[in-house]
Amino acid sequence: MTRNATPSVKQSLRKYQDKRDFEVTREPSGSAAHSRSRTPSAHRLAFVIQKHAASHLHFDLRLEVDGVMKSWAVPKGLSVDTSVKRLAMEVEDHPMDYNKFEGTIPQDEYGGGTVMLWDRGTWTPDEAEDGESDNDAARRALAAGKLAFTFHGVHLKGSYALIRTRRIDKRGDESRSQWLLVKHRDRHATTGRDIVAEVTTSVRSGRTLAEIAAADNDELRELEDVDTIAPMKPTTHALPLPAGVFALEVEPEGTRVMVFLANGTVRLVDTHARKTNRDGKLLDTAPNVEGALLHLARSGGALVLDGALHGDHLTVTDMLLERDEVLTEEPWLERRSRLEVALSASLPSRKELKAAVSLTDWLAVTSNSLTTDAVRAAKHEKLVAKRIDSPYESGTSSFWLRIRQ
Ligand code: MN
Repeated sequence: MTRNATPSVKQSLRKYQDKRDFEVTREPSGSAAHSRSRTPSAHRLAFVIQKHAASHLHFDLRLEVDGVMKSWAVPKGLSVDTSVKRLAMEVEDHPMDYNKFEGTIPQDEYGGGTVMLWDRGTWTPDEAEDGESDNDAARRALAAGKLAFTFHGVHLKGSYALIRTRRIDKRGDESRSQWLLVKHRDRHATTGRDIVAEVTTSVRSGRTLAEIAAADNDELRELEDVDTIAPMKPTTHALPLPAGVFALEVEPEGTRVMVFLANGTVRLVDTHARKTNRDGKLLDTAPNVEGALLHLARSGGALVLDGALHGDHLTVTDMLLERDEVLTEEPWLERRSRLEVALSASLPSRKELKAAVSLTDWLAVTSNSLTTDAVRAAKHEKLVAKRIDSPYESGTSSFWLRIRQ
């Protein structure tokens, strides 16, 4: 290999930069990369694997060669089982700075969705000629379409092969050569182990995709930071109701939860546990509730909902944020009608999913129309009357009245 055969970093990153608007995305621009003096022969080569919840969830394998990260999209992620072959689609080279990137790419941008650092470390090509550096051996093997290499990562260790199965001409704008990724037989190989299912948190921050997405949504972060997210609670009150128009609801059974939906991810926070733990408690949800909420998160955009989780059913009572618009100052009736529209437009059509999430029924009442007899006849344990013109205020509020019976 002559020096001339080494592509410049600047040249290699042109495609990466063309695809992105760095005014909008927080991904690194790679513009500083070509001025960095890093001799490829003098250090160990870096690798990262990023889990990327774009329109299709996939993993991105990136191997350092010639000062850039050679990249492949691996739909199913890597395996430690030698009998598993994984498809890897070659994509554009990424800058070295991308190795630290974790966060959310805005939905309308290229690769929109949340990125998590799934694994990182160094790698070495398994075969080098006499006196050849790792970097030169790597470049030669990739050009030949067959690279045997070893991961020295946190999760991935041992030897793998990348084999090009379909070459697509580099001159094409969307050149995506197809490769296969297989685990070689060695002491790190484990039959039947599903490491992709096992490792669901970031190697950098310990966070799940959902937590990264929630932390990256400015409006959500604002709501979580201030106490507005603490739930609004009713004051107990004997009839008659004070003046005003109220929405009468049956208080739903179950655990009071705040539901955060953002960038295709779902997070439920137990509001009671939140009192003692600032980060709140993440609840595991029943599959149908999770499925319905995921659908809502993908089609309805960012939402914050107030509700109650009871077994495999979520009852939604209020909406505090819709698509980056904070609704807490809006009157109850406005929040409620927007919530009804949002849910009816975006809940999935599959019956069991649709049935897993529902809204409370409500009835407009005044002090004249809600009598002690009517409440007694309803035989409900907990009736709550909410002023239809009231904002959502955290803590115990006199706008919401639990009817004493
Ligand atoms: Mn990707």
